[in-house]
Amino acid sequence: METHECIVIGGGVSGLVGASRLARAGRSVLLLEAESRLGGCARTWRPRPDFWLELGAHTAYNSYGPLLEALADRGRLGELLTREKLGYRFIDHQGATSSPMTRLGFVEAALHLPFGLGRPKAGRSVAEWFGGLLGKGNYRRLLAPAFAAVLSQPADAFPAEWLFRRKPRMQEAPRKFTFSGGLQGLLEALAEDAPFAVRPGAAVTALTGGRDGYEIRVGDERLACRQLFLAVPVDAAAALLAQVHPQAARILAGFPMASSEALGVLVPADRVGLQPVAGLIGDEDDFWSVVSRDILPHESLRGFTFHFRPGRLDRQGKLDRAAAALGVAPGDFLDVAECLNRLPAPGVVHPPRVAELDALLAGEPLALAGNYLNGLSLGDCAERAAREADRLLNLKES
Ligand SMILES: Cc1cc2nc3c(=O)[nH]c(=O)nc-3n(C[C@H](O)[C@H](O)[C@H](O)COP(=O)(O)OP(=O)(O)OC[C@H]3O[C@@H](n4cnc5c(N)ncnc54)[C@H](O)[C@@H]3O)c2cc1C
Repeated sequence: METHECIVIGGGVSGLVGASRLARAGRSVLLLEAESRLGGCARTWRPRPDFWLELGAHTAYNSYGPLLEALADRGRLGELLTREKLGYRFIDHQGATSSPMTRLGFVEAALHLPFGLGRPKAGRSVAEWFGGLLGKGNYRRLLAPAFAAVLSQPADAFPAEWLFRRKPRMQEAPRKFTFSGGLQGLLEALAEDAPFAVRPGAAVTALTGGRDGYEIRVGDERLACRQLFLAVPVDAAAALLAQVHPQAARILAGFPMASSEALGVLVPADRVGLQPVAGLIGDEDDFWSVVSRDILPHESLRGFTFHFRPGRLDRQGKLDRAAAALGVAPGDFLDVAECLNRLPAPGVVHPPRVAELDALLAGEPLALAGNYLNGLSLGDCAERAAREADRLLNLKES
């Protein structure tokens, strides 16, 4: 049976940062990814050789330390691309856009801010904490739709402590960046000429074993490892852990998921009247947000990804809504791509459950990384992955 010191399951940011860190320390590492491409939620559509558009994650910051460290290990930091400084605007059903600041009630904000700032976020939902920060009216008009646009799901019940955590910034990197080939390109770069092996198209179907070693099934094939690094979505993690760690699996089974439907459209630049924007925020609309490629302008093309609420519109309905929002006809779209995005939908009960999980796994050669453990952002995932890799590296029997 093929045997490795560490097997990493999942080729999104969590798995790639984990694999980079373990391999850098000299472990023999194999990363298994179910899809034929790496990147997970960083999904870049490439409809033209010189034009790509993000269908998933779109913005990265120089506070994403462990991600940037992994990129620096590959010698690829120089390929970061600075995003144009553009803002987000709200869009109404008639296609009119407005600055988020027009929704801010200054008097209400001034009355709440002095009392709102010092309160701890732990145990409070986004609606509770941010509603206390700027007032309920400001929360409803401005923050609720803006945060739902960020999370591609309703934000009210989300744990406040998992949204916008302050992290140190790497000064050598642009404050906000993307990469040649988009953020999927950045994650692919982590695996190019890397000191670990990667197998795309390898969906793990079962796990057995425990402290003394794990056996991994990929179809009919069996692989073995001493340490296991699980970096898959939470529902997949719950299913895979059922035999090797039933207690952890039971906790994970209680984490809900949300989905959103992405529609990417490519349009001739001269057909769109909309001023350049980073994106648009929908309010009680069919979509949570629209992410634009204007942050890296192209001379003749523009691209927009609409993140639709799930199950509301069929394909034609989405095309019509997207065209109306952009002030064009569906026939103006040069190319269209669709995908389903899935993210965890945690509430305030979940951070304490992660603490429970961490206590259960302490001392075990099993690491858990992913966007359900300390926040959704690529930076949160990279941070957790680095911490878990370091835990495996420091295990006594290692
Ligand atoms: C629409 C959208 C917009 C976002 N925007 C941003 C943003 O702008 N900035 C930001 O920082 N974050 C953003 N995020 C969040 C961020 O992209 C994700 O939370 C993060 O990429 C998750 O990474 P991950 O590696 O934990 O999981 P994933 O990316 O989900 O990767 C898990 C991988 O595991 C694989 N897998 C699953 N089951 C198996 C199996 N049985 N065997 C082998 N492999 C398996 C999957 O195929 C997948 O590749 C966005 C997310 C979405 C969906």
